[in-house]
Amino acid sequence: MKKCIICNTEKEDDEFNIEHVIPESAGGSFEIDTVCEKCNSLFGSTIDNNFLDNFFVKVYLSKFDIKNKKGKLPKLWPKLPTRKNPKIKGIPQYNPYNNQFQGWKYNSAIIDLNGSKHLVFDSEDEIDDVLRDFSDTELDKDEIREKFYNGDYLEEHQELPINWIIKLDDLFFEAIKIAYEFASYVIGDDYLDDSFAVEFRDILLNSSKYNMEDIEKYFFNFDCEESPFDGTLHSIFLMRVDESLVVSISLFNCFVFSIEVSKNLNLVSDNLFGYFLLNNLDGSISEYNVTKDSLKIVELYNRLKSKENINMDMM
Ligand SMILES: [Zn+2]
Repeated sequence: MKKCIICNTEKEDDEFNIEHVIPESAGGSFEIDTVCEKCNSLFGSTIDNNFLDNFFVKVYLSKFDIKNKKGKLPKLWPKLPTRKNPKIKGIPQYNPYNNQFQGWKYNSAIIDLNGSKHLVFDSEDEIDDVLRDFSDTELDKDEIREKFYNGDYLEEHQELPINWIIKLDDLFFEAIKIAYEFASYVIGDDYLDDSFAVEFRDILLNSSKYNMEDIEKYFFNFDCEESPFDGTLHSIFLMRVDESLVVSISLFNCFVFSIEVSKNLNLVSDNLFGYFLLNNLDGSISEYNVTKDSLKIVELYNRLKSKENINMDMM
């Protein structure tokens, strides 16, 4: 007998199966065995499924060439008028100064990270080219514009907004699941009675009853930045941040979520700085239990390397 960390019920060992903390279809290879089959399949059809179906997740599955169980890459553009024309592909755009991902250039269209999509053109000729690509016909430009955009074209700004919203909610719900399962894995059964854990379980079991406003209070921040670890696809850290325990999750080496998972610092040892798990690109997992002492050793090593004078009293 053991306890399922989701439904909080004692069950026979054979009622449990392998749970991937980050979905396997998203390249996740970190597994736990403390989620019962019933809860596992509930996630499969709700939180994990919505996550894998999210536009941005599909973009990154394509970028990293992560195929689903049938060996296929996700279809990226089912909702765009370009589905008839498979020749058109999105090109990722990076800020040349900090190399951060900015959005996707789709011929002349930019899909930006705040969830709206705009077509931006440099010239009248370019408008015609792009619209002709979209339509795959030889209609004249006015007919094409009318056909696809109902005259919404703004001459003045050379910009054609399309009402097409990309929701990031699916990623936030998945992040709650990952944070809760990881905190339970690192801390153990003691975490299950924590007030945050009780709330997270309810969110995970009844996700359709919750919306973004209900869960955003747990998020310290959400950002897009590259992980400092080379060769990493995903990473999960549990750390002390001031008076809280925080799980920081990096997905696809881009989306970074930091989630408060407890205010009870006694759940981890006094000497713990953080527990790090790296899901490497080759599918292997690296785990690091970083103590405050080992941080001091790293500090000393770095200073030796930089040939700084070392004042031993400081150590
Ligand atoms: Zn369960």
